[in-house]
Amino acid sequence: MNDIAQIRPPELALYLLEKLHRAGYEAYIVGGCVRDSLLGRTPGDWDICTSARPEEMETLFAGQRLLLKGKKHGTVAVVLDGKSWEMTTFRQDGHYTDGRHPDCVHFVPCLREDLARRDFTVNAMAWSPTEGLIDLFGGQQDLNDGILRCVGDPVARFDEDALRILRAVRFAAQLGFRLDPATADAALQARMAVRCVSAERIFTELDRLLEGFAAGTVLARYGHILTGALPEIEACIGCSQLGRWHCYDVWNHTAAAMGGLDTEGMDPRSARVLRWAVLLHDMAKPMCRIADEDGTAHFPGHNQRGTRLARQILQRLRAPVYLIDGVVALVAVHDGPLPSSDLEILEQLHQRGPLFWQRLCRLKLADLAAHANNEAVAQRCQEVRQFARRMQHLSDTACYTVSGLAITGSDLIAAGLTPGPLVGNTLEWLLQAVMQGSLPNERAALLQAVRAQQNS
Ligand code: ATP
Ligand code: MG
Repeated sequence: MNDIAQIRPPELALYLLEKLHRAGYEAYIVGGCVRDSLLGRTPGDWDICTSARPEEMETLFAGQRLLLKGKKHGTVAVVLDGKSWEMTTFRQDGHYTDGRHPDCVHFVPCLREDLARRDFTVNAMAWSPTEGLIDLFGGQQDLNDGILRCVGDPVARFDEDALRILRAVRFAAQLGFRLDPATADAALQARMAVRCVSAERIFTELDRLLEGFAAGTVLARYGHILTGALPEIEACIGCSQLGRWHCYDVWNHTAAAMGGLDTEGMDPRSARVLRWAVLLHDMAKPMCRIADEDGTAHFPGHNQRGTRLARQILQRLRAPVYLIDGVVALVAVHDGPLPSSDLEILEQLHQRGPLFWQRLCRLKLADLAAHANNEAVAQRCQEVRQFARRMQHLSDTACYTVSGLAITGSDLIAAGLTPGPLVGNTLEWLLQAVMQGSLPNERAALLQAVRAQQNS
C-alpha cells in the first residue's frame, strides 16, 4: 500500500484545516493532491473540502483577502502569502454542460456524498490530520494497481459528464495507468458524447494527454475512445502500410512515434508543437492510400493533405496560433528530403531559422523510430542525425542572416549608397556571396566589394 505518511500538506493548508475544524466544521484535503502525494508526486494544488457553507467560510475568514467568484459552486478562496487556497463546501454536482462547471450544485452535509460525485476512485480520497486517509471507494488499491475506475456506475458517470472520458485517458497518460475494463467499455460506448464538450476543453485534455509520459501507450491502447474527440483517428486504426518501410498500421505507427519522441532540451513551445505534429503527421494517410497489386501501400500527397487536415483539426480545437503554424509547417515537409550541401543548409537556415530545422529533425527521428527495424530505416536515421549535426554547426558558426553580416545598412549609407531599397538589396546580395563562400564575412572585404560594385 502507498504510504500515508507521504501526505504532507503545506503549513498554510494545515492552518486552514485546523481553523475550520476548531470552528466546528469538518475539513479535509481532497482529490488530486491526495492522489499525487500517495504516488510520491508533488501536488499542483491543495484543494480543501469542508462542511462549512460559503457564507460560513466568509465569516470565519473575514480578516483575510477572499476570492468569491466560485461562491455559487461552493468555492471560497483565501489568499495567504500571495497564493490562493480553495475551500469548497461538500457538494453534489448537476450537469457539466460547459464541461467545466456543473450547471448547478447541491450542498450536502457529509463527506461521503462529496467523494461519491468525484470522477475516479483515485481522485476520491480525502485526508485530515485527525482522521488520516478516508478512502471509501478503494482508491488506494486502484492507485497501487495502476487503475482508473469510475466512482459508481461508469455508464451513468460518463453520461453525466462526457469530459470525464477524456480525463480518464489523460490521467492514464500522465500516470501510466490503465482503465478498469468496465470504465474502458463505458468510455468507448459514450465516446461520441465528447462532441458536446467545448473545443477548448477537448484541446486542453488532449494537450495534457500528449504531455503524459505514457502518451504513446495510451494512444495505442485507447485510440477508439479518442475518436470521440478526433473522429479522424478512426480511419487510421487498421489502415495498413504494408511495404518495406513499415511494420505498423497508421495509428499504431503514430502511437509508437509519440512514444519515441524526444523533446529533451527543447523549449516548451517547441516540445508542444512536436507532440501535436507527431499526432497529426500521418492523419491524412487513409485519404491518400493506394495499393500495388502485391498489396504494397503508397500514400501520395499525404504531406499536403495532412497539412490542410492538421490546420482544420487544430482550428476546430481552438489551438493557439503559434501551435497551428508550427505544426502545419512541420507536417508539410515531414516526409521530404533534407537539404544536403552546406549552401543549401545555409539557405534553409536563412529562410526558416534553426528552430524549424531542429524541430523537423526531432519529428523525423520520432517518425523513423516507429518504422520497420531494418537497414534502410537505420540509414535514414543516420542521415537525419548527420544533417542535424551539420545544421547545428553551421547555425552556430556561419553567417546566414543579414543581421549576422559584418556590416550594416548604416555602413552602406556612409559608403555613399542612397537610403532605400538599394540598401536592403545590397545587404541581401552580400549575404548570398558570404553564404556561397565567395566573400569572407569581414567588414573591409564587404565594403570593398560594395565599392567595386558601385564603380562597375
Ligand atoms: P490535475 O489538477 O492534475 O488535473 P486533479 O485531480 O486535481 O488533477 P482537477 O481538475 O484539479 O483535477 O479537479 C480536482 C478534483 O475534482 C479531482 O481530483 C476530482 O476529484 C474532482 N473532479 C474534477 N473534475 C471532475 C469531473 N469532471 N467530474 C467529477 N469529478 C471531478
Ligand atoms: Mg487539481
